[in-house]
Amino acid sequence: MLNSYSRKEDICTHLGDDYERYLGAIVPPIFQNTLFTQKTSDQGYSYTRESNPTIEIAEKKIAALEEGEAAKCFSSGMAAVSAAVMHWLSKDDHIICIKSVYPRARELLDSYLRKFGIEITYVSGAAVEEFEQAIQPNTKLIYLESPSSLIFAMQDLAAVAKLAQAYGIATVIDNTWATPLFQNPLNFGIDMVIHSATKYLGGHSDILGGAIVSRAEVLEELNFRERGLFGAVMDPHQAWLLIRSLRTLPVRMLQHQQSSLAMATFLERHEAVSQVFYPGLPSHPQYELGQKQMSGYSGVMGFIVNRSYEQIMEALRGLKLYEIGPSWGGFESLIGPMKVDEQLAWHLGIPQGAGLVRISVGLEHIDSLIGDLEQGLNGLV
Ligand SMILES: *Cc1c(COP(=O)(O)O)cnc(C)c1O
Repeated sequence: MLNSYSRKEDICTHLGDDYERYLGAIVPPIFQNTLFTQKTSDQGYSYTRESNPTIEIAEKKIAALEEGEAAKCFSSGMAAVSAAVMHWLSKDDHIICIKSVYPRARELLDSYLRKFGIEITYVSGAAVEEFEQAIQPNTKLIYLESPSSLIFAMQDLAAVAKLAQAYGIATVIDNTWATPLFQNPLNFGIDMVIHSATKYLGGHSDILGGAIVSRAEVLEELNFRERGLFGAVMDPHQAWLLIRSLRTLPVRMLQHQQSSLAMATFLERHEAVSQVFYPGLPSHPQYELGQKQMSGYSGVMGFIVNRSYEQIMEALRGLKLYEIGPSWGGFESLIGPMKVDEQLAWHLGIPQGAGLVRISVGLEHIDSLIGDLEQGLNGLV
């Protein structure tokens, strides 16, 4: 399936164009149909829950970007997460997961899967020995997210993959933060990569989506079982918008990276900020590891201000260029204080009630973004 495009920019702009097939249209059309008639010809398509030419273009691009054999797209990132996890697990199995995992993924593993008798052990993920010590005879899956949600902690992908292979344990990683442009975990021996396409891959805050990349054989089985049976496939129109978004992914990510390094440096120097969580800062405790396994940094970071949630919210409400809202990875800058309750504090390894703020650096001019935030933060010194 791999093609003549090996550079990521070329994959994003042109892979799957197939002008001959689509009457020379510069943008391939949307196959917005559920079924394919079989009377006159069999083109290999039958029902959109199984396969569809528009969805396949998005899948080809994502597989090539991740340097994987194949990809499957889902209706949301969580649809991809749940299909991936269910693929590897059976009743009474055990999972090892990192503590600072995306909170909804944690709920799936921790509460929902308990009804199938599945056990879970959390590790910080900072040292490979933690994973080894957590292994039990029924351990079937190691679930990673590197850099992770909210504190952007990293795991040594090559070392964890090697350990897991030695014990016959599958490895899955949520690679949403780094995007396939900045990190390709399959090359380190990880079995399966998940993306929420709602974030940078979509990039315009107008589509939900998810993807899984793995070996073709694994995905073929997953397509009939977890994607086909649970039915959370991507819609063709969603796929068409995703293809549109992928064309500009490389330029968007370059800008997010450049602005975010400037933003993180500004935050680190500001008096009101006691700690910054950003893997691209040389002061990040795992900076070397990040340099080893990533080729760039995206635009979401966290920082701590020693003030209450309400005080921080009050100061941030006055900002002009930032909206306060969930999600991230779009063109727009977002900021928001997080409520660090006892459970979240344990998962993140920070004090309960800490003034944690998450920021998603958008595509506005960086001088405007820093100027606006400086005004707000000056009130919190
Ligand atoms: C948003 C997110 C998800 C879930 O994706 P949805 O598309 O919202 O379902 C999974 N993992 C990470 C790291 C995320 O940020």
